[in-house]
Amino acid sequence: MGETVVTQCPWCGESLEVWVERDGVGSLLQDCDVCCRPVVVQVDWDDERGPSAVAVRE
Ligand SMILES: [Zn+2]
Repeated sequence: MGETVVTQCPWCGESLEVWVERDGVGSLLQDCDVCCRPVVVQVDWDDERGPSAVAVRE
């Protein structure tokens, strides 16, 4: 089970779609589709609020 979460690229500010797995919380490395820079995405999943993602510069 997973869900797409939209967050913001910390480099260019464009929307960044992140696929979050229910049991895959933690940090993952993803390249921005727009500026191609590496972004560390910290994903979390709250049972009530659902998935969330915060993107930071590597
Ligand atoms: Zn970007």
